[in-house]
Amino acid sequence: MSRWSVRVDPAWSLEAWRTAARLALRHAVAPDQLDWLPGSETSLLDAPSLTSVEDGRAPPAEPQIHVPKSFVELAAICLCHRDPQRMSLLYRMLWRITHGERSLLSNPADADVLRAMALSQAVRRDTHKMKAFVRFREVPGEQDAFIAWFEPDHQIVDRVAPFFARRFAGMRWAILTPYRSVHWDGQQLSFGPGGHQSDAPMEDAREELWRTYYANIFNPARLNTRMMQQEMPARYWKHLPEASLLPQLVRDAGDRVQEMHDREAQAPRRRIPQAIAAPEPAAETTPATLDALREAAAACRRCPLWEPATQTVFGEGPPNASIMLVGEQPGDSEDLSGHPFVGPAGQLLDRALRELGIERSTLYLTNAVKHFRFERRGKRRIHSKPQMTHINACRPWLMGEIENVRPQVIVCLGASAATAVFGAGFNLMKNHGRWHVLDDGTRAFATVHPSWVLRQTGDAARDEAYRLLKDDLQHLIEVQRTR
Ligand code: SF4
Repeated sequence: MSRWSVRVDPAWSLEAWRTAARLALRHAVAPDQLDWLPGSETSLLDAPSLTSVEDGRAPPAEPQIHVPKSFVELAAICLCHRDPQRMSLLYRMLWRITHGERSLLSNPADADVLRAMALSQAVRRDTHKMKAFVRFREVPGEQDAFIAWFEPDHQIVDRVAPFFARRFAGMRWAILTPYRSVHWDGQQLSFGPGGHQSDAPMEDAREELWRTYYANIFNPARLNTRMMQQEMPARYWKHLPEASLLPQLVRDAGDRVQEMHDREAQAPRRRIPQAIAAPEPAAETTPATLDALREAAAACRRCPLWEPATQTVFGEGPPNASIMLVGEQPGDSEDLSGHPFVGPAGQLLDRALRELGIERSTLYLTNAVKHFRFERRGKRRIHSKPQMTHINACRPWLMGEIENVRPQVIVCLGASAATAVFGAGFNLMKNHGRWHVLDDGTRAFATVHPSWVLRQTGDAARDEAYRLLKDDLQHLIEVQRTR
């Protein structure tokens, strides 16, 4: 059996991997005949290069290769992982997809699919950390020029750079990492070799302001040091101006909570706090923890829905849940209690989950819109569907939850949630129960909202609607089994 090698340079490039994979498929080279070589370094021990096989000869006809878009998206993410086997894993999957297993990705129990999902999850986690923990520092003596140092686990700089270009479009900045650097001149991105931490400035003047703000919003009653370390591992602390405050804030937390308990009880009041004018942190992007996000959402005024409502109803559940359920908006009971899915629709959802053997406490439950939209009829508050403007205004909170929780699977309950996650134009009744892969590799599907089930007229219609909801939620049994 001949053995060949193909090179992918740069190692994280989908284009380079795709060209090599096409060449291998064209010559019918099976996965176990091929060595994948990342980067440009060569060795005398390398098998002959597959590119040499076409030297001086007419290449065979280009095969028609059709692969699902979701595979291409998954490949783009997995290639950023440092696992030396990632390229051969992807080629083996491609080989299987093009040799009769077209639905390979819909089998979550397959060992290759599971491995690829694990790689993509790790890259997504690393991407999230980079977005949350990069801190730009002003270059002394230059106006509007900033440099940040960051050490990602994986080769994600090219993948994340467009995010920073959009977010900090008006600045000139560079991010240095040990393997690669990226520079934005206000017009375009350019990439170069890695750098050293000493090439980046250590601190700038605005950090003192950010520390003051951080100390003021720090809530000792919500302190969970285990979660904090998990969300903000110590190795990122050196990038964060607020890190120097943390030991003292943690030490004082017990006394401050006691003080809060000892304070005289005050008359209940509306729980929406006044909006806080937060200073722009050096480069704060998405709040780094769910608690910080929840805290910020409580003061949100992005759309008019906050005004007549009682409070922001933020998501709840394990901060590392593998499944996230997204509903439409809080209802009357949720608005009053401050917790999602506690009213009649929540109880119906509980029943469906119980019958499927799924523990609600393992899921993260949230809504596309965080305030209750209603119309008053006498003393009653009647649910009113949120409009597209509300969904769009509230989307950053949902995206922040997704970025922080990083679920493997998202379930959209109802059309508003599906619009928030998949975009406008999603046809729920045509696509319910079908798997989709989001741009970041997360798998998702939509089903009906339990309140739609309750709104059906007559027992037969309600039973039918309930069956539909439960049938779609069956997917979660597979997901939990393969975790
Ligand atoms: S509905 Fe969402 S966007 Fe509108 S005010 Fe409430 S939290 Fe903000």
